[in-house]
This record gives sequence, C-alpha cells and structure tokens, in this order.
Amino acid sequence: MASAYSLAWDVPLLGRNTFHVDARAHCLATVHDATALPSLLAEPALQNLPPMVLGAGSNVLFATDRFAGCLIHLQCDSIRIVDDAGAHALVHVDAGCEWDALVDWALDHGLQGLENLALIPGQAGAAPIQNIGAYGVEVGKFMAAVHVYDRQAGAFDRLTTERCAFGYRDSVFKREPDRRIVTAIELLLPKAGATHLSYAGLGEELAAMGGLSPTPRNVAAAVRRIRRRKLPDPAVAGNAGSFFKNPVVTRAVATELQSRFEGVPVYPTSGDAVCKLSAAWLIEQAGWRGFRDGDAAVSAQHALVLVNLGQATGPQLLALARRVAASVQERFGVALEPEPRIVGAKFQL
Ligand SMILES: Cc1cc2nc3c(=O)[nH]c(=O)nc-3n(C[C@H](O)[C@H](O)[C@H](O)COP(=O)(O)OP(=O)(O)OC[C@H]3O[C@@H](n4cnc5c(N)ncnc54)[C@H](O)[C@@H]3O)c2cc1C
Repeated sequence: MASAYSLAWDVPLLGRNTFHVDARAHCLATVHDATALPSLLAEPALQNLPPMVLGAGSNVLFATDRFAGCLIHLQCDSIRIVDDAGAHALVHVDAGCEWDALVDWALDHGLQGLENLALIPGQAGAAPIQNIGAYGVEVGKFMAAVHVYDRQAGAFDRLTTERCAFGYRDSVFKREPDRRIVTAIELLLPKAGATHLSYAGLGEELAAMGGLSPTPRNVAAAVRRIRRRKLPDPAVAGNAGSFFKNPVVTRAVATELQSRFEGVPVYPTSGDAVCKLSAAWLIEQAGWRGFRDGDAAVSAQHALVLVNLGQATGPQLLALARRVAASVQERFGVALEPEPRIVGAKFQL
C-alpha cells in the first residue's frame, strides 16, 4: 500500500508560490491521506519544526529565503455528494481539490452558488481560511462545515459555520494560523434560484457576450472573462492577487475623507456603522500604479496587485508593500492590511 505521506528535505519553493519567490523549505510533507496527520505530526524528525500548511501558494509571500519549519501539502482531492435530497445538495470536498476544478464540477452537476468564485487559484482547503470572495459572493455563504485536524486539541473536529466566524477575508482559521489543518469542506449548494449579479460589471459582461441570460454557467464564463482581462496572470508576472484588503472604516471616517478628497469610493457593508474603502483607489491616487523598483512592482494593470517581474525576492516585495502602505497612511490616514500570509517577517510599517 502507498504511504499516507512522504517527506522531502531542503525543498525549492519557486514553483510552489504564485509570487515565484525563490525560497526554500527545510521540510515538505506531502499528505495523501489526511487520517495520517496525527502520525505525521508525531514523526520524531519533525518535533522541532513549526508546521505550516501550504496549498497552491497563491496567498502567501515568503519574505525569507528559508522557511525553517515543515510545510504540509495535502493532495487528497475527491469530491462526493453526501445528501442530494431537497432543493440543495451537500457536497464533501477534500482539501487538496483545486478550487476552480470544483467550480466546474458543481456546474456539471447542476449545482450553483460557486460561479462568482470561478478562476480563484488555490485549493479547496484554503477557501475557508480567508473566506474567499469575489464579484459579490463569499464562500462562507455556502459552507456547511469545515473538517479539520486541531493540533491544539490533538483531535479531528468538524466546525459548523457558526464556529468558523467568517468575515470579510477573515475566519477563525485566519486568526489562529496553524492551529487547524483543514482536511475537507462541506458545501450546501442550491440546485436552482437566481444568480448573484450585484457586481455591476457582471451584467455588462453578459451583455457584451451577446446578451446571455444569467445562468450559473454563463455567470462563471463572464467572471472568467473579466478576471483574465483585469488581473495579471501569475504565469506571466508572479503575484498573489490583491495584496491589500479593502480597509473597513467607520462611516464618520469615510465622510471626512469624502469631504477632503474628491471621488473617494465608499461601499456599504452589512454593519451600519462601518463601510469599505477601495484599497486600489487609494494606492492609485497615491501614485503607485505601475511603479517599479527592480523586479518588484505595483501592477500597471491593477493597482492592488504587487507583481514579481522576474527575480524579485520576498524581502524586496515586502519592502515595496510597506512603502505603498506607508504612503497611503501618510496621504489619507488609512491603514492598509495585507491579504496574503507573510511568512518569515512581520508586516509592521
Ligand atoms: C491571480 C490571483 C487572483 C486571486 N483572486 C482572489 C479572489 O478573487 N478572492 C480571494 O478571496 N482570493 C483571491 N486570491 C488569493 C488566493 O487564491 C486564495 O486566498 C486561495 O484560497 C489560496 O489558496 P492556496 O491553496 O493557494 O492557499 P495558500 O496560498 O497555499 O495558503 C494561504 C493560507 O491558507 C493556509 N492554508 C492553505 N491550505 C490550508 C489547509 N488545508 N488547512 C489550513 N490552512 C491552510 C496557509 O497556511 C496560508 O496561511 C487570488 C490569488 C491570485 C494569485
């Protein structure tokens, strides 16, 4: 029988992070069967190595040339329908499944909800970590439960949605990094119903595609077209998508900014007292779009995306991120918070 996991030492990470940062990891554990996680973590050789799960590396910046711990990469990738009765299907997805393949699988099985999240890179197991969201939809809306191995409790656990504390690019998993290893997710997906077109550009894209009706499959196609046009392709210029979260501020702060600067975009949130600003707008207004320092740059295509145009190191990309955030802070008095996980350094300005 094949081993449930394998270990490799002194592993290059260049092909394992979408920033294409040339770092190395002391150890990489590839896990084929998540039930073996307790045995893996009990391996004598790993006792002094801090573990960190690495999915597809599309939301991490290795800001060190060497990660001195053990990266855990889950490869289990099966998808199965657990309950098909009624208007929804309950779907169990292993953590190692590729997210965008899951979106296609759902569409092929007549299940909807994930179409607005098409083409987000990464593994399904990473989706709950920052509650991935795009085009007006967050995955937490469909998450019935998250299966984990809880390192603190030394036991497997199943967290229902209430325990996940999903928020904007936030969850209990993000707040307590490395405590829980997500082994699978359960999604409750509707079989019918209206698609989400609250993001204005979606309706326009469907119109530009020949006036297509907003079926889940057409919405996914529209989302993919917009994303390919707007976002730099990591295969061409290394990046981790949006580098900063949109700042959430009080309504008073937003109003004050609007009185001082013309055209500040302000978006409502579910809470009455707070609203969201556009980090991309703030960065662009501060003059950073297209800025380049060596191979570390702010994308000319999208101001929210930092790009590696060749040989940029993690520390160089982090230094640029700090400069961008410092200048936005100075000009607008607004703090920017990074969205990707920064490994081996702190973000502080
Ligand atoms: C071009 C591009 C576009 C993007 N667009 C979006 C977008 O629209 N919306 C959005 O929300 N994000 C977006 N992202 C960010 C990223 O794709 C998502 O956050 C994705 O879920 C990360 O998956 P991953 O497997 O690459 O995770 P990784 O980058 O490998 O890991 C990210 C974090 O999750 C943790 N983690 C990963 N897997 C597990 C697990 N099984 N158990 C416990 N912890 C785990 C890691 O330790 C790390 O802290 C984009 C990224 C790129 C490059």
